[in-house]
Amino acid sequence: MNVCLFDIDGTLLSSGGAGKAAMEAALATEFGVQRPIDQVQMSGRTDRAIARDEFLLHGVADTAENFARFIRAYLSHLPGMLASRRGRVLPGIAGLLDSLSQAESVVGLLTGNVAQGAQVKLSHFGIAGHFRYGAFGDQFISRDEVAHDALRQTRERFGPDFDAARIWVIGDTPLDVMCARAIGARAVAVATGVHTLAQLEAASPDLLLADFSDAGPLLARLA
Ligand SMILES: [Mg+2]
Repeated sequence: MNVCLFDIDGTLLSSGGAGKAAMEAALATEFGVQRPIDQVQMSGRTDRAIARDEFLLHGVADTAENFARFIRAYLSHLPGMLASRRGRVLPGIAGLLDSLSQAESVVGLLTGNVAQGAQVKLSHFGIAGHFRYGAFGDQFISRDEVAHDALRQTRERFGPDFDAARIWVIGDTPLDVMCARAIGARAVAVATGVHTLAQLEAASPDLLLADFSDAGPLLARLA
């Protein structure tokens, strides 16, 4: 049995900028920050890390209270932003998720999104039901910590000896590949986010794809 853990943004779906817009709206309404998020890297990073960097940049105290306030506001803006933008499920993902649930694979999440934000995005696009469990970016600054949490949860479910090499981490950034390496998992990189095939190849994933319009190469590796 294999476990496939998916990143969300740039891998399963494009929110059409809704996530970023909801964060900007939260910063504006809660903390009076009127600047777009343009100096802080978002792709591959956790919501906790993005918030911390924005707080530091704009002189907001990086406290648990302020982060909770930020996320509450972000979650209140997110559904409206998703509804007003042209997001989409990325090519081949619907078929891949169906194929994985028919195969001997467990499907979960390994994402920098906060758990509730992940749920809102996946529900909006009608794919939330595919994921049995997940590791999220509510508490962790580094994606490697999210990966360690995913490994811990996987071994809670499937036994303490579950081989990390049977976990496949699927994402669209070099940070996704690196966090797979941090736990001894396999890495699948897909160039449907902001990174090019060449940039992803430099991170040496086990499998590199332009998109999942042909899921065959991944399904073959899992067989
Ligand atoms: Mg991503």
